[in-house]
Amino acid sequence: MRKTNAATGSKLLGLYLHIPFCVKKCAYCDFYSITDASLKADYTAALIRDIKAYGERCSGYMVDTVYIGGGTPTCLGAGYLSEILQAVGACFAIAENAEITVECNPESTDQAVLEAMHKHGVNRLSFGVQAAHDIELKRIGRIHDFAQAQAAVELARRCGFTNISLDLMYGLPNQTQAQFLDSVTQCLTLHPQHLSCYGLKLEPATPMGRENPVLPDDDTQADTYLAMCRLLGRNGFEHYEISNFAKLGFRSRHNFKYWDLSDYLGLGPGAHSFLNGRRFAFARDIRAYISGESIPQDEEEVSDFRRQGEYLMVRLRTSDGADMHDLENRYHVSTAPYEQVFRMLEKHGLAAHEGTRWYLTEQGFLVSNSIINAVVEAGE
Ligand code: SF4
Repeated sequence: MRKTNAATGSKLLGLYLHIPFCVKKCAYCDFYSITDASLKADYTAALIRDIKAYGERCSGYMVDTVYIGGGTPTCLGAGYLSEILQAVGACFAIAENAEITVECNPESTDQAVLEAMHKHGVNRLSFGVQAAHDIELKRIGRIHDFAQAQAAVELARRCGFTNISLDLMYGLPNQTQAQFLDSVTQCLTLHPQHLSCYGLKLEPATPMGRENPVLPDDDTQADTYLAMCRLLGRNGFEHYEISNFAKLGFRSRHNFKYWDLSDYLGLGPGAHSFLNGRRFAFARDIRAYISGESIPQDEEEVSDFRRQGEYLMVRLRTSDGADMHDLENRYHVSTAPYEQVFRMLEKHGLAAHEGTRWYLTEQGFLVSNSIINAVVEAGE
């Protein structure tokens, strides 16, 4: 991928490309993806069409992060992925030091795909591992086993990738805390630079949501979360966002754009954008996307008042937290009502501060939704 020296004064942009194909739907997943592989060629062409169109519209921007997610990008195969990466390099100004991530699933990450991604500038891989126990993987409808995940990560290292993230899930049906911590420990033997650990959430419109299995109770989930934080802390990982842990220098720069209200452009069905103060999204409909009928929906200007609430919502997910000076400077508001709530949370060990920067503690992360609501409401 052709890259440009970033020191040009351009505005920075994160680029997200959605690949809406999966070999089989996992039982818990409500991300937009389909299993009809016959649409891959037409979809790749449509995505490249939009990469060209939006590349022109965003000519004043320098792209410093690219994230290809899904769905399962690796099931697109080396050929289509190469075409997409080439189009990105040809149509956008890509910063010399850009972070370029592709989400990988173990069963479709082969040597050809890895070599193609490496050749076209991909420098970060995010593997959906989810668990180290095959019985748990089967229960949630994953089509790979842990041995395949290990083999794929090891192959990626041999192909030259040095920045690897692994996704894990806790709170699975019948999963004990010990089993989940064992999954984390087994993943650590693969020497990842980054881990994302999410609690299973039952979505009503999924097979697992309809089945409604018994999940570990709230206390068990909370204990598991805190034990995981301690285990990863002992192994040198910085807990930099509620569900994300990184070795020094390996935070996800792309995801940080979402947590920092920076500009990002999302292409593909279901992809969201936040560009020049406006939010928009493409419909979750691949056929409409391919035919070009899918014009971005929900276009709206985000008011300063709403942005201030969003700033708090996203910043408080991170260990950097929300800086009251920054909030004042951005939105010209009094931060006194927020600080009042933070002081009350501090008394209960849920928040802490360094100077004007307030952040949630790990106990606070556990109940972040209610805390963030309380803080945002204080400004209304
Ligand atoms: S592979 Fe990922 S995107 Fe596809 S169904 Fe499973 S969880 Fe969802």
